[in-house]
Amino acid sequence: MEAHKFQILVLGGGTGGVIAAAQLKRKDPSLDIGIIEPNEKHYYQPAWTLVGAGTFDLEKTIRNEKDVIPKGVKWIKGRVAEVIPADNMVKLEDGRFFSYEELIVAVGIQINYDAIPGLKEGIGNNGITTNYDPAYAEYTFECLKKIKKGNALFTQAPTPIKCGGAPQKITYLGDHYFRKKGKRDEINVILALPGTKIFGVPKFEKLLDNVVRTRDIHARFFHELVEIRPDKKEAVYVIGQANTNPDYLKEDANMNIRIEDSFKVVIPFEIMHLAPPQSAPDFIKNSPLAVHDSPWGWVDVDQYTLQHSRFKNVWSLGDVASTPNAKTGASIRKQAPVLVKNLLTKINGGDIQRDYATYNGYASCPIVTRYGRMVLAEFDYHNNPTPSFPINMAKERYSMWVLKKYGLPWLYWNKMLKGDDF
Ligand SMILES: Cc1cc2nc3c(=O)[nH]c(=O)nc-3n(C[C@H](O)[C@H](O)[C@H](O)COP(=O)(O)OP(=O)(O)OC[C@H]3O[C@@H](n4cnc5c(N)ncnc54)[C@H](O)[C@@H]3O)c2cc1C
Repeated sequence: MEAHKFQILVLGGGTGGVIAAAQLKRKDPSLDIGIIEPNEKHYYQPAWTLVGAGTFDLEKTIRNEKDVIPKGVKWIKGRVAEVIPADNMVKLEDGRFFSYEELIVAVGIQINYDAIPGLKEGIGNNGITTNYDPAYAEYTFECLKKIKKGNALFTQAPTPIKCGGAPQKITYLGDHYFRKKGKRDEINVILALPGTKIFGVPKFEKLLDNVVRTRDIHARFFHELVEIRPDKKEAVYVIGQANTNPDYLKEDANMNIRIEDSFKVVIPFEIMHLAPPQSAPDFIKNSPLAVHDSPWGWVDVDQYTLQHSRFKNVWSLGDVASTPNAKTGASIRKQAPVLVKNLLTKINGGDIQRDYATYNGYASCPIVTRYGRMVLAEFDYHNNPTPSFPINMAKERYSMWVLKKYGLPWLYWNKMLKGDDF
């Protein structure tokens, strides 16, 4: 079959794909690079939390894809349907084929609205919303404005998600918004999470535990969301490890939380913000690139070099990669230079077994704790703090809020997407 061949083919023109292509072009303008991306728009997703809180314009999170594709890189507008690594080939949904010498997979995460009964029907109505989708981020603020009393439920699906801190950020902003509007006394703020604690890094866990306690946020752990009943406005959970945590299987008359069938917790809500179920896109999950026998289907890469474990001319970064870090755009800032260096070493005939760069799992989670305050949690694979600034980062700061609202978006559009490595 006839297929145009690229020296380097990038799948996905989101954060990871554009940054990797831009850095490669900076290092070597002669490289022949193509990016396959179906969407005419490119998104700065981290600001969707602020959109949901009514303090950032959704339009400012969106640019035309054509304007962010690096100079000299060919944009193929299309959607990949299949990767055939044995033939160094990809097939698009429209039937076109492209081949490659080196492949970079950066197709991000797939949101699975079908995975929880009631979610697809309910989302965007009945007070059910998510900041994880630009179609609903503004509706989140509508919900915060609309609720007068009852339960404001903030929760997440029991799957891996991108930006694990995002469900909490909107909880704290919601709480603060209700206080500013003088209606907090009438509203129960409930944070129901599938995990066992508020944050994985002890230093930040302590701080966030304190935020939850002092602001009367009702945090519940081990809650695995299994169903949403949009008409009744109820969320249904099963309790992971219920035997060791029987406390969570209790009714709560004040919040109308009840037990059903003796093992389900039913939480009624006026509004509900949800981080929806997520996984790798289906075409990756079903491809030879995926981690074997994993329900999530991430691209199986070496967590340090970002090279595929089996197909040595395949690389991956960002949300779709199997690296066990927190899935954030900030991680991509540290992954891209590693991938670029290792890929260039390989195509320039170097020995990547001996001369390789390593990614240490860096992730950053800017946790907004109220309007005007933020904690910048940065850490590596071992949950060791990796602060960018020589100050105590386990503190709510106005300066970090300014960084989140103004500094990081500017850096993203003007530096990161242009290939600056900093
Ligand atoms: C609400 C929210 C808050 C967040 N907050 C933060 C934060 O504060 N800090 C932070 O660092 N990160 C944050 N993130 C996470 C961050 O936005 C992501 O980790 C980052 O965008 C991932 O980049 P990526 O390139 O892997 O995926 P994306 O940027 O999502 O790009 C994937 C691209 O692949 C394309 N694609 C998909 N399928 C195909 C296909 N079949 N063929 C071709 N192309 C395809 C898509 O159209 C898309 O353009 C947040 C995310 C959300 C949703």
